[in-house]
Amino acid sequence: MYLDIPTLAFISLLMGIGASIGFTSLMTVLHNQMVLRTWVAALWIGTAGMLLIGLRHRIPDLGSVVIGNGLVVLSNVIVMKGIARHLGQPLRWRWPIGFVLIYTGFSAWLTFVTPDLHMRIVLGSLQAVIFYLANAYLLLRYAESEIRTSCRIAGAIMLVNAVFFFGRLFMPLAPGAGQDLMKAGSPIAATYVLGILTGLATYFALLQLVTERLMVDLGRAARTDGLTGLLNRSAIVAEGRASLARCMQRGQPFALLIFDLDHFKQINDTWGHDAGDAVLRHVTAIVRELTRASGCLASRYGGEEFVLALPETTLVQAMDLAEKLRHTLAHSHARIDNQSIPVTASIGVAAARPGVRFEQLVRQADEAMYRTKFDGRNGVSSADIDDLPFAQAGDLRC
Ligand code: GH3
Ligand code: MG
Ligand code: MG
Repeated sequence: MYLDIPTLAFISLLMGIGASIGFTSLMTVLHNQMVLRTWVAALWIGTAGMLLIGLRHRIPDLGSVVIGNGLVVLSNVIVMKGIARHLGQPLRWRWPIGFVLIYTGFSAWLTFVTPDLHMRIVLGSLQAVIFYLANAYLLLRYAESEIRTSCRIAGAIMLVNAVFFFGRLFMPLAPGAGQDLMKAGSPIAATYVLGILTGLATYFALLQLVTERLMVDLGRAARTDGLTGLLNRSAIVAEGRASLARCMQRGQPFALLIFDLDHFKQINDTWGHDAGDAVLRHVTAIVRELTRASGCLASRYGGEEFVLALPETTLVQAMDLAEKLRHTLAHSHARIDNQSIPVTASIGVAAARPGVRFEQLVRQADEAMYRTKFDGRNGVSSADIDDLPFAQAGDLRC
């Protein structure tokens, strides 16, 4: 087998073009995955760089060696920017661009001032080692728990790539190569073959990162209510059941709170449907604020009805929370377009007894909530009135 560097360089170029086209077409479908745009730009820039390098002796060295290699390095740092962005880590342009400029300066020096092919190969390999190590660091250090699998796999691939390029630092150059990379000899040619493999592995690593993020996004969208961002009805039932089962197993208390906004139809009729939506978001913000430190599962159960599942919470604690919520809502008018919209809620609370099902608990709390409506709204009722201390069993309105 004869490893011919121009042929291998041509195959690398074809692979780069194929990957660029593939990522571009993927981007048109997955247009909400913003990181794909970054990587598509990076791949096309890298491909342009490989094309210039492949045109050695047909165009001036400035274009082929200096600009060609510069574009490849620029492509690498844009990929890295994308990875940082994917992980929610801001990476200032200053460092990557500085890196590209320093590399390009050295590359020009080793082409025109003291021509040295071997040092150019060392320089190229060194930048690749730095690039892959930086990517591996980002992926393994900043992986969010939800996308940890793809980050770990991509991080491992980046580490393997770094090891490969580190090994390339020590590859001998064929004696008669002169300044021509295309005559650098079999050991360097072998690194081109491995380079094709590491390139492919990198493309798949990037695809896997996008795919897992997409799965997480879809899963989240299926679980949450679009208007408020709280859990939706099917999610609270599924997660509430699991949470209730855990608490019962451990002998811990579990309570459930359900509330319905009072005369919400009037809000819509008076201020408009958009204002009604804004009131729902206002209520959500208050719910989040009051339940932030707890393990509460908050959901929008239906139109203007909310369910809070409260693990490790006794009936008395749940009644306290309910009263705090009622009071806060009643005293914090929603401010929408300079208008102040009063909002109150009727609340029902139920505590779990051994063997109760989640749906039964919802029904009990719902019945208590309807009692509050019947009693005049803007109040709190418990499904288990006998279990409450006297002071809390009465009318809680103010
Ligand atoms: P009550 O005090 O008895 O609960 O009276 P209510 O007016 O709150 O109850 P009703 O069931 O009569 O009306 C609920 C209203 O909530 C009707 C519906 O148009 C409105 N609604 C449901 N979902 C949404 C939503 O997503 N946005 C807005 N703006 N309104 C909604
Ligand atoms: Mg209502
Ligand atoms: Mg309702």
